[in-house]
Amino acid sequence: MDSSGRRDSDRASNRLVRSPWLIMAAGLTATAIAFALAPRIHPDVAHTGEIVALTGIIVSLLCALVTRLLVPSSASRDDSRRRLHHDELTDLPNHTGLDVLLEEALAHTRRNRKVLGVLYCDLDRFRIINESIGREAGDLLIKEAAKRFRSGIRGSDTVSRVAGDEFVVLSGDLDNPGTLPQIARQILQEFAAPVALDSGDVLITPSIGIAHTHPETPTEGRLLLAEARAAMERARENRIGFAVFDDEQRSEARTLVDTGERLRGAIEDHDLHVFYQPIIDVEHHSLSAIEALVRWNRPGRGWVAPEGFLDAAAGAGLMASLGEMVLKEAIAQTLIWSSTYWPDLDIATTVNISERQLMDSTFADQIEELLSGIGLDPRRLTLEISEDVVVSQLDRSLDLFRRLRASGIRLAIDDFGTGQTSLSWIERLDMIDYLKIDQTFVNGLTTSSVNLAIVEAIVSMARAVDMEVIAEGVETVEQYHLLRGLGITRMQGYLFEAPMRAVDFEARMEQEVLSSV
Ligand code: C2E
Ligand code: MG
Ligand code: MG
Repeated sequence: MDSSGRRDSDRASNRLVRSPWLIMAAGLTATAIAFALAPRIHPDVAHTGEIVALTGIIVSLLCALVTRLLVPSSASRDDSRRRLHHDELTDLPNHTGLDVLLEEALAHTRRNRKVLGVLYCDLDRFRIINESIGREAGDLLIKEAAKRFRSGIRGSDTVSRVAGDEFVVLSGDLDNPGTLPQIARQILQEFAAPVALDSGDVLITPSIGIAHTHPETPTEGRLLLAEARAAMERARENRIGFAVFDDEQRSEARTLVDTGERLRGAIEDHDLHVFYQPIIDVEHHSLSAIEALVRWNRPGRGWVAPEGFLDAAAGAGLMASLGEMVLKEAIAQTLIWSSTYWPDLDIATTVNISERQLMDSTFADQIEELLSGIGLDPRRLTLEISEDVVVSQLDRSLDLFRRLRASGIRLAIDDFGTGQTSLSWIERLDMIDYLKIDQTFVNGLTTSSVNLAIVEAIVSMARAVDMEVIAEGVETVEQYHLLRGLGITRMQGYLFEAPMRAVDFEARMEQEVLSSV
C-alpha cells in the first residue's frame, strides 16, 4: 500500500473514533451485554445488573454529547484543515501543505519511475524592500509574486508559499531533469517587468535553486528541499538567477569537511592571523576605528579570506576557538597601538563576533577577563554582530548587549540590510552604537535608484534611534559622493585602504606620524 493510501485509511479510522454516534452505540452495546450476562453470573447480581445498565446508558449518552460538543463538525474540520494547509494571503499551499504535496508527488514519481523537480525560490532583498515600502504594499508585492509564479509554471505543477518571501515549485512527471532549467527561465521571465505600486515601480526578482530526484535512488523530501535551498543560495550569492544542485555541490560538502580538519591544525599551529582595515571619519579626514579581520596563512595558497573557511570552521565546531584567538590578538594589538599612536583619541578596534560566541553564556565574562587581563580600556573595543545573528537571537541577546554596553564596550550591527531586521525591532536596540550598511547597497548605489532610496531610509531610521551609520565596501569616488550626500561621515573600503597585516598597518601609521611632523 502506498503512503497516500495509508493516509486515507488513517483519516477514516480517525473519523470513526471521533464519531459521537459510534461512541453511543458502543456504550449501549456494552451496557446490553452487561445487563444480559449479569443474572447468569450470579442471581444476586441481577439487581446490580439493572443499575449497571442504567449507569451505562447515562454514561453512553454523556460521552456522545461531550464528543459532539468537543469534536468539530466535518465542515469546520475541513475549514481548519484548509487553513492549516493554505497561506491566507496568496491562497497557495503553505509549508504544511507543501509537505503533503511533496510526499504525494514523491510516491507518484516512484510508482511511475519519473523525475520530480523542486524549485526553491527566494525573492531577492524582499525584506528590506518590504520595510521601505510599507506592509500593505509588501503584501501586494507578495500577491503579485504568487500570481507570476503561477503563470510561470505548467498547469500540472504546484507552487507553495513556505515562508515570507520563499516559494517552492514542484514539477513532477518529468522524463528527465533537463526541462527544469527551462521552467526556471520561464519563472524569471515572469518577473522581468517591474510591479506597479502606488508608490512607484518595484523590480523584484527571485533566485531559484533546482534539485531533482534520481530514478534509481530513493530521495527523501526533506533532503530534496535542502538541496534545492542550497542551490538557491548559490544562485543568490552569484546573482545568476538560478542554479542546479549538482555533483559539484555534493563535492563542495566533502571539501568543507576536509577544510575544517585542516583549519583545526592551522589554529593549533598559529597559522591564523588578524588583518586590520581603517574606518575613516571622512568629515575630519581622520582615523575613526579599525576593523579586525581574520586571515588564514594556508600553506601553498597564501592569505585566505574568511569566506574560504568560516563555513568549514562552523561545521567543525571551531568558531569559538577562532573567535577567542582573534579577540586576544586584536585586544593585545590595540593596547600597543592606542598607547603609541592615539593615546588621547577615541579610536576603537572593532571585532566580528559569531553567533556561536554570542550564544555562549560565559561570553561577557570571557571578554571582561580578557580586557582586564591585558589591561585595555573597554571603550577601545567595539563588537560587530551581523544583522542576521542579532535578529535570530534578539530576545536572548538584549541582556547581554546591555551588560556589554554598560561595561563600556561599544556595539555595531554588521551587514545591515541583508538580513531580516524589521525596522521596528531597531527601537529595542537602543544600546547599539553603530549600524554598518552592507556593501551590496553601497555597490548598487550608482546603478539603482531603489538602492539609493533604501540607504536613505536606513540612514534616517538610524538617526531616529541615535545610531551612527558606517558605509562598508566604498570603492569609488562616485559612491563616496553619494554617501556624503546622504550625510554619512564614516566609511570603510578599498577607496581608502584594504585590510592589511599588523606590520603594514604600523608602517602606514609611522608614515602618517612622520608626514605630520
Ligand atoms: P565584514 O565584517 O562585513 O567585513 C567587511 C568585509 O569587506 C571584509 O571582508 C573586508 O575585507 C571587505 N572589504 C572592505 N572594503 C571593501 C571594499 O571596498 N570592497 C569590497 N568588495 N570588500 C571590502 P573579509 O575580510 O573577507 O571578511 C568577510 C567577512 O568575514 C566579514 O565581513 C565578517 O563577517 C567575517 N569575518 C571576518 N573576520 C572575522 C572574525 O574574526 N570572526 C568572525 N566571526 N567573522 C569574521
Ligand atoms: Mg564586520
Ligand atoms: Mg559587514
